[in-house]
Amino acid sequence: MVDSELQFPSRGGRWLKLNAIPDDGSPLEEDLLVRVDPVGGYSFPQGVVFHLSVSRTGGNLLFRVSLRGEGAGECARCLAPVGFVLEGEDVFLVTIGGEVSQEAFQEEDFWCNLDTWADKIDLAPMLWEVLASSLPSRVVCDDRCLGLCPFCGANLNRGPCACGGAPLDPRMEALRIKLQELGEEER
Ligand SMILES: [Zn+2]
Ligand SMILES: [Zn+2]
Repeated sequence: MVDSELQFPSRGGRWLKLNAIPDDGSPLEEDLLVRVDPVGGYSFPQGVVFHLSVSRTGGNLLFRVSLRGEGAGECARCLAPVGFVLEGEDVFLVTIGGEVSQEAFQEEDFWCNLDTWADKIDLAPMLWEVLASSLPSRVVCDDRCLGLCPFCGANLNRGPCACGGAPLDPRMEALRIKLQELGEEER
């Protein structure tokens, strides 16, 4: 099912009616295909599929949100297009009414307190949180990617470049040292 109401992050708002969640503790399960705008240098041409499982626990609501999508980005070393699988999962505890206990605040999973009169909850912030925390900090086309020549910019995966690796200019030399440092941090 394509969720036409929601597109991240430009069009938010996907409400879930609380009375749809069973009273007997069994979960309400739902799959949502969400369109996602390019974010963090990545795009998701096919959208991202979220799986939602909500159940009542005590007076609270427990949300399990997982996602899967095909991402497209650029190799951090050679800038070639790279496809990757985006996967993630998180759990959110939503309390209804009353005080939020200190322990709940310290719980990693704690998310929010809902007013007692609320009859629906916006899923968008939860879905977005799982998506944002699943994004890779960088992707590479291959662990052995040789990257670009810091002197002439040639793609070294296609073979040695013609520049011979000599600094052309003091500013290029500074850039080369910087790139080398970054490369060492990666390891
Ligand atoms: Zn690469
Ligand atoms: Zn070169």
